[in-house]
Amino acid sequence: MTHSWGYSKENGPDRWHESYPSARGNNQSPIAILTKNVHSDPILLPWFTGYDPGASKTIKNTGKTCRIAFDDTYDRAVLRAGPLDGIYRLRQIHIHWGSTDDKGSEHVVDLTRHAGEIHLVHWNSKYSNYNDAVRKRDGVAVVALFMKIGKTPKPELKRILEEIDAIKTKGKEVPFSNFDPSILFPQNRAYFTYFGSFTTPPCEECVTWIILKEPIIVSSDQMLKFRSLSSNTAEQPFCPLVDNWRPLQPLNNRMVRTQCE
Ligand SMILES: [Zn+2]
Repeated sequence: MTHSWGYSKENGPDRWHESYPSARGNNQSPIAILTKNVHSDPILLPWFTGYDPGASKTIKNTGKTCRIAFDDTYDRAVLRAGPLDGIYRLRQIHIHWGSTDDKGSEHVVDLTRHAGEIHLVHWNSKYSNYNDAVRKRDGVAVVALFMKIGKTPKPELKRILEEIDAIKTKGKEVPFSNFDPSILFPQNRAYFTYFGSFTTPPCEECVTWIILKEPIIVSSDQMLKFRSLSSNTAEQPFCPLVDNWRPLQPLNNRMVRTQCE
């Protein structure tokens, strides 16, 4: 690739491996999950978060997603238990969405693709920093929330949507304080888990995925708001930031697990 990665024909997922060889690894994400093939594992525990709202810092249009950054200099916003050992610190939250409501999520469950997927990225605090953690198999844990179109959208998304106009173009960043991301979680905390990768380059294979089975409900209007972001800078022509999701990757020999009922 001559220019940076993206989602277009010239620099999209089919070409990421040219600059990022991990993208062709055997443990890539996202995957299709078929519930009939999911293993019930009695070892799996419920997961917990403890998020200090004071840890949220900024929200930014990166040109590829909108991303909320958190203070991860100490165990301030943390995820633990579930399939994990130890404590994982929240570093950032970002979102994947489509150009239309019938696509946008990265993971697919029983052939259903939702309108979007929220990723809460945490790193294992036994490592000295994030860059160290992404090189380790147990370095990262991502909690994934599906965004499903429905009639009673989640009011908790409002905080994020309110800032969209302030970060219209690539590179724009504004303060985003006092945000507890656990308000986004659905009522039911049941999850699928498997070992995989980041879905964006360099696609490091360091991620324990915790994918919540129950989607959160969003409206068509809310999804439109995300599509009003531009993947270009303020100086360039408007180019809608849409379809920032990676296609499905082979499961290979991996097992998807869930807690016993
Ligand atoms: Zn993501």
